[in-house]
Amino acid sequence: RCFNSYTYGRLQELKQLQNQLRLTNQELTRLVRANKDSLSHLAHELKTPLTSIIGYADLFLRQHRQQPEVHDAPSNIESIERVLKSGRLLLRLINDTLEISRYDAGKMKLQPTLCDVSELINSVVEIIEPLAHAKELSLVVDCDRTLEQVITDPLRVQQIITNLLSNAIRYTEFGKVSLDCRKQSQQQWVISVTDTGIGISSDAQKQIFNPYFRAVSDPLVQSSDGTGLGLAIVSRLVELMHGEIKVVSQPGKGSTFTVILPLEANGHEHEVEKTES
Ligand code: ADP
Repeated sequence: RCFNSYTYGRLQELKQLQNQLRLTNQELTRLVRANKDSLSHLAHELKTPLTSIIGYADLFLRQHRQQPEVHDAPSNIESIERVLKSGRLLLRLINDTLEISRYDAGKMKLQPTLCDVSELINSVVEIIEPLAHAKELSLVVDCDRTLEQVITDPLRVQQIITNLLSNAIRYTEFGKVSLDCRKQSQQQWVISVTDTGIGISSDAQKQIFNPYFRAVSDPLVQSSDGTGLGLAIVSRLVELMHGEIKVVSQPGKGSTFTVILPLEANGHEHEVEKTES
């Protein structure tokens, strides 16, 4: 569990280091964990000053909108807008990193309740729809009515759907994005998000669930704000719910992300590392 946010390459590097330094598995686990703890400490420390930078930039812009004559030249306003945008991206990066480290430390827990899936979906779609409209994409939603009584964590399901839908919109320039939810069997239900966007190469498909990976060779990915952590979080949430996530994609044609979840997702407690004494 301690190593599961590492890519294959990083794991090989760690193995080499372990051999060179003649470390036991237990010693290596302790070192990695200490490193991760200090990273998550740093992330917490960064949040306070960053929140204040964002707060002041936001306040300045709001005051400017109310009394444009009092404040500075347009170039200054543009600079502040950039500060605000970068600040928000950095804050998202920190929050998402903390979310991953919470999962990897076994501290992410589910709060399952009885949910009506179509209600969950409507509230996500209300928030996401303007993003699709702004790009003149049609957003088509189809939710099976039999999903009225699912035991799951509503906020986590909304987080999964929000991530998949916002990616589908961000990485699509023309056409449509569709969301479909159905009962798959007596035990499972399925969410699928399909877009007619840029698609994902088969090489990139192997890496998209790794933290911080972004297919930046595509100009649309390069120009869009992103942390490379959305799908890493989604795949961890799906794993926590004992579900499964798959992607089918063709560059230039579009992608379909499919998430299969149990109708009763109570989650599982993470195992405590066996090497710990
Ligand atoms: P982010 O979108 O913030 O970069 P994600 O973890 O959500 O991070 O996605 C990782 C990468 O996977 C993206 O940077 C992009 O290259 C690719 N990707 C994800 N969803 C899609 C999609 N629907 N269409 C094309 N590429 C996608």
